[in-house]
Amino acid sequence: MFLGHFALGVAAKPAAPALPVGALLIAPQAMDLVFLPLVAVGAEGIEQGDYGQDGIDALYSHSIVGALLISVAVYLLAKAVWKSTNGAWLLALLSFSHWPIDLLVHHRDLSILPGNAGDFSLMGFGLWDYPRAILTIEIVLAVAATVVYWGWARRARLSNRWYLGPSIVTVLFAALALSDLGRLPA
Ligand SMILES: [Zn+2]
Repeated sequence: MFLGHFALGVAAKPAAPALPVGALLIAPQAMDLVFLPLVAVGAEGIEQGDYGQDGIDALYSHSIVGALLISVAVYLLAKAVWKSTNGAWLLALLSFSHWPIDLLVHHRDLSILPGNAGDFSLMGFGLWDYPRAILTIEIVLAVAATVVYWGWARRARLSNRWYLGPSIVTVLFAALALSDLGRLPA
């Protein structure tokens, strides 16, 4: 799931109009933003596979405890930057939302404790095994989020330029998802 994370951020705009869309788009990806440098230093890793079949070794950034810590960091950062408790809560929730969404699609690679301390069994429902269904859900989520955002922009009587950003993001990502669909083996 990729678009789904972004879609939540776009759909959250009416709940926190004062927050920039950029922050709302980045917050749901905070766990992946921690994951990438950990891959660079070799603490975590990716094994390339076909669409949705990449194995990830992300026992720190994608553990439940890791997700909570990252969300706390997002809260503190947001609070310091935007001085809004509600906004900080919303961004922290968006950050944590990454975990349950990943739980649905990942293949048994999510841990409870960082580094899978305690050796509990890893989690993931593996919906990536149904790439057409997932890609369709991703596009539906992106369009639904954009419609929610447009509804808010209309109610708030905002000028046309406000409609542009999320529309471009939706069209771009929907096109990417469609091109992925086209590449899937029959
Ligand atoms: Zn992730």
